Amino acid sequence: MPDAVQLIGEEKDFSSNVIDYFKDILNSKPDRNDVDINMNYHIVSVFGSQSSGKSTLLNILFNTNFDTMDANVKRQQTTKGIWLAHTNELNTSSDSLTKTNDIFVLDVEGSDGAERGEDQDFERKAALFALAVSEVLIVNLWENQIGLYQGNNLALLKTVFEVNLSLFGKSFDPLKNNKVLLLFVIRDHVGVTPLSSLSESLTTELENIWATLNKPSNCKDLSLYDFFDLKYVGLAHKILQNEKFIDDIKSLGDSFAFNISNMDPMKTRGIDRTTDENKIIEPIFKSNYHRQNLPMESWSIYAENCWNLIENNKDLDLPTQQILVAKFKTQEFVNEALQLLLDEFDKVITDDILINKSMLIEKLLLLKNKTLNYYIDHASHYTNSIFLEKKTVLINEIDKIFKPKIDFYLNHLIGILINQLKTSMKNYNSANNNNSPFVEKLNANIKDTNLAFEKDVKEFQKDQLIDEKTFDELLINFSKLIKDNEKSLREAHLNSIINRINKTLSIKFKDSSINLLSHPEIDVWDKVLNMFNITLTRILVNYKVETTREFNEKDGFEYNNEKYSEAVEDEYDFHLGFNKEKNSNIYKQIRGNAWKTLDNIIHDYLKEDSILSILKDKFETKFRYDENDTPKFWKNEIEIDQAYKVARDYSIGLLDILSIAKTKDNVEIIPDVQLPKDDDEDAEDDDIYQDEFGIYHSQKFSHILNELQKENILKKFRKQINLSVLDCKRSTVRSTTH
Ligand code: GDP
Ligand code: MG
Repeated sequence: MPDAVQLIGEEKDFSSNVIDYFKDILNSKPDRNDVDINMNYHIVSVFGSQSSGKSTLLNILFNTNFDTMDANVKRQQTTKGIWLAHTNELNTSSDSLTKTNDIFVLDVEGSDGAERGEDQDFERKAALFALAVSEVLIVNLWENQIGLYQGNNLALLKTVFEVNLSLFGKSFDPLKNNKVLLLFVIRDHVGVTPLSSLSESLTTELENIWATLNKPSNCKDLSLYDFFDLKYVGLAHKILQNEKFIDDIKSLGDSFAFNISNMDPMKTRGIDRTTDENKIIEPIFKSNYHRQNLPMESWSIYAENCWNLIENNKDLDLPTQQILVAKFKTQEFVNEALQLLLDEFDKVITDDILINKSMLIEKLLLLKNKTLNYYIDHASHYTNSIFLEKKTVLINEIDKIFKPKIDFYLNHLIGILINQLKTSMKNYNSANNNNSPFVEKLNANIKDTNLAFEKDVKEFQKDQLIDEKTFDELLINFSKLIKDNEKSLREAHLNSIINRINKTLSIKFKDSSINLLSHPEIDVWDKVLNMFNITLTRILVNYKVETTREFNEKDGFEYNNEKYSEAVEDEYDFHLGFNKEKNSNIYKQIRGNAWKTLDNIIHDYLKEDSILSILKDKFETKFRYDENDTPKFWKNEIEIDQAYKVARDYSIGLLDILSIAKTKDNVEIIPDVQLPKDDDEDAEDDDIYQDEFGIYHSQKFSHILNELQKENILKKFRKQINLSVLDCKRSTVRSTTH
């Protein structure tokens, strides 16, 4: 039996020993988290004048160890204040002590009636405190105090009624039926006056006191019985009738032992004990007496908060106090739960399981549930809204601890998925005969990639390791990342198409244009243009580029030279999922490259020397051969001179054709798109000009020979054909003179 502990000291201070006192009680319990134990405890207070035998009664009834005044030693009055003792054993009419739920007994040691004037403050505060926490107030009285009506005898009860109104009057709710039991214990009841008449006169006195109280307006019509149940018990004289005295206490013990958690009528009958008068025992503890809904472990904090408010004359708002305690305690359990988690975290979540999804999820879930269960086991008895609120806090904290590990896995996953996507599209590029267009394959792959990511993230989300919001964010960010990759994959594929088109173009252009230009006719440039458009379109068609231009593989284009530039305005689709404008720009880029390639080929080929040899070749053919390619036989020099003049004029005519690129209708050929610039090309090139539509053109293309170059060629050409004709004349003279 532990000694009682002082709860409120003489100096009206809350004792710091109380917390340890409760800790010891809880630690002595095998399962301190058992709801029945933690929640089903009772608080009883005792009031009465000094030396009225309060502590003596409590010690016998509750098997406690409060200080009592020893009659023989004549000790001074026991220390003032409020004392607290814990019990779960009662003295009842059974032979041994009866086990009960935990009961905490508050022994209020006030001062003598005579001294009370100076210590009314303590009495009032003690009453307020006792009412705030107790289910039962035992009021201890000598029998001879009743009926005398000496004002101050029952002054204590006036105080109790007043503080009761200040505590519960404002928020009085008849539906809740919250009450306190006032248990009057009449001491030295020798039995001359029956208990019934004593209780009658006490009741009358109490009702009178109630009637004279100043009540707040909302309590004007409320009766004493709206707040209190009254019960009267008489105890025999301790010294004169000691055996009966003990028996009376034991039968009072029977009423206390009647457990409210055992309200089952069968059980009730089982522990029923009858008094001498064969009366059925009425239980002391009733559920509507319960003051607080706080687990036992936090009672001392609650009591201390209440006392401090009382001591500082602040409003004592009990529900708010309970919420404050709930907040404090649930936060404590959140911290403990998190500490447990952190202690285990690195041991369980090792590096080797970070890229093993199912293991990672399994271990994280295990830790999460363990952490949450710790919290739920400890905190669930506190105000539900606070319990839930702090549970969310805990979940957020757990998520924060988990996040880096989950992120690690997801980043690993993202790396793998992006790599897979790139690899599968790379394979597409090398397989030219692939049937589905690039963009279809790409879209299908992207869809698969997104699904694969979503599937994995969903596994985390399903087990609530990732919340809805994070889930959505992850998917959005991932699809952004995929979009970036998609863009670069398309660009890469486009570049490879453009490069391959350029290569093919340059081979085809070279063969065709040299072939055309080495036989320059009046319409040779029309033919070059035609070749340009047909070749370009044919290559695009080979690369499965769709165009609105009608194209017949066998005949080529019915190409209208005058309108060759319309090709630029046609629509093209590179099947890369680009819009019209982008497709058109790509086409213009390819067409610009084509122009540039053609330009290079033509200007490389049509140098002075090669033009000279073309002219000479054409001259020789015209001069020496007839229409049937048969060598001519001249009869005289006149014939030679005539043939020479025709061939010479014809050849010089070809020089004009070759020196500037014009259609047969005498229109200078200008590239219809901007040509890509060489790196070393001067930005302010004189040959670049802007047309009326603001488009830049290069005149370089058509200008093949300048006047000086033409002069040079003509000079050399004349020299050479003069030699040629001289040779011819010589041989003719030789043959005619023979
Ligand atoms: P408290 O100050 O109210 O706690 O009173 P105590 O329990 O310390 O008792 C004060 C004195 O009264 C002691 O000497 C007790 O022996 C005596 N006493 C206790 N109970 C009774 C009782 O029922 N009748 C009488 N006559 N004396 C009692
Ligand atoms: Mg005492």
